[in-house]
Amino acid sequence: MTLSGSRLLQPGTPWQNWGRSASDHPKHVARPSNVDEVIEVVDFARTHGLTVKPIGAGHSFTAIAATTGIRLDLDAVDGLISVDGPLVTLAAGTNLHQLPALLAPHGLALANMGDIDRQTIGGATSTGTHGTGSAFGGLATQLRAVTLVTADGGVLRVSETENAALLPAARLGLGALGVLVDVTIECVPAFLLSAVERPEPMAAVLDNWHDATAATDHFEFYVWPHTDTVLSKYNTRLPIDAGRRPVGRFAGWWEDEFMSNSVLAAKLELGRALPGLTPAVNRFATRLVGDRSYTDVSHEVFVSPRRTRFVEMEYAVPFDAVPEIVREIHALIERRRWKISFPIEVRSAAADDLWLSTASGRRTGYIALHRYHREDPAEYFRTIEQIMQTHGGRPHWGKMHNRDAESLRAAYPRFDDFVAVRDRLDPDRLFGNAYLERVLGA
Ligand SMILES: Cc1cc2nc3c(=O)[nH]c(=O)nc-3n(C[C@H](O)[C@H](O)[C@H](O)COP(=O)(O)OP(=O)(O)OC[C@H]3O[C@@H](n4cnc5c(N)ncnc54)[C@H](O)[C@@H]3O)c2cc1C
Repeated sequence: MTLSGSRLLQPGTPWQNWGRSASDHPKHVARPSNVDEVIEVVDFARTHGLTVKPIGAGHSFTAIAATTGIRLDLDAVDGLISVDGPLVTLAAGTNLHQLPALLAPHGLALANMGDIDRQTIGGATSTGTHGTGSAFGGLATQLRAVTLVTADGGVLRVSETENAALLPAARLGLGALGVLVDVTIECVPAFLLSAVERPEPMAAVLDNWHDATAATDHFEFYVWPHTDTVLSKYNTRLPIDAGRRPVGRFAGWWEDEFMSNSVLAAKLELGRALPGLTPAVNRFATRLVGDRSYTDVSHEVFVSPRRTRFVEMEYAVPFDAVPEIVREIHALIERRRWKISFPIEVRSAAADDLWLSTASGRRTGYIALHRYHREDPAEYFRTIEQIMQTHGGRPHWGKMHNRDAESLRAAYPRFDDFVAVRDRLDPDRLFGNAYLERVLGA
């Protein structure tokens, strides 16, 4: 075994995540450009008693990507490796925003996406990143195979025909099982989305939750605290040749840049300086946003720019419980006299069979709470987390929460199976960090 991994190491520098809610100062940073170099770094770490932590785009709000050992920056391990029908193999450091250009020549697209595309495919799938659509799973459900560099420096292929028993763990592994070097995703023929966005009364939307999610491929809504209005988004899939009708340049700038970023930032600063104005400002904002319809290629509709920093907690809850929980949160905000500037986002997903997926074994609703990154979210998040827990909620692995291994074991029927795979692949916790110790145990 070579110790030449050291040639890949640079001194570590301080790091912060996108939401400024996690930071660290690793001992070393390594930027490998291929699998052999990843193996060199892993071997070096093992021999020197260091831990290794791959980093994606640093967009998790939890400290899941933090490390005091070697930060493995996989920026250079990116790009398209192969296309075989709908099966697309990508280097794990590929950012989601690279995909439209890589997939377009093959007439393919991701089946579903969340609301941004800055993440890497390795990082997004490792934390269970999802979009919305009650017949659609999160990104990790689209994975058909992965290649991992494991703690012993070996290369492990996991697919339906190779080490298949590991697949339900390896497709959504929290970065705890090894370094993903490539992933194979099942894509779908490229498609258009017809989007209808409009403000609606909250009571009607909650009463209609089951029908709207059944009738619309991708339905979500944003609750404006202190108002009785939500912004609903109904996205319907159309064939790629159905005819684009994109948002006009001014309308796109107004809604996606000006209202959703510049005005939002100003509103959040105002809310911080003068919290008493927040309810009135929220009511005013509901009159300015939404009410548009357009049709465009899927990624243009799924994804929006997010330039105003915030922190977030998101819980996966039983699908049927969504209206009751949203009503409970809405009432609680008024009872506690909190002043909440940021909307609450509500989405859905199909049940899946990944052991640590937040939608594992049950049809799911997602409820996401946000706070401006300069505000302290602790009381708001903690109090609502108790409601989520009462309803059997499971926290997004990449978003803020306070749960530990003991309470998560009760939330995931296959939790111990995952831990057994971790014990087998990484008995000495080469890929460990404080967050994984909290949520999975030592
Ligand atoms: C503005 C914003 C919007 C968001 N929108 C959504 C959304 O719509 N839906 C949703 O579900 N989430 C959303 N998220 C959360 C985000 O998708 C996840 O936190 C995701 O994990 C971030 O991907 P990343 O590439 O930044 O990974 P990082 O945060 O850098 O890493 C996440 C984890 O993956 C591990 N990892 C990364 N690469 C590898 C690899 N190659 N091998 C093994 N492990 C690896 C890291 O070690 C770490 O444990 C959003 C976050 C932000 C900041």
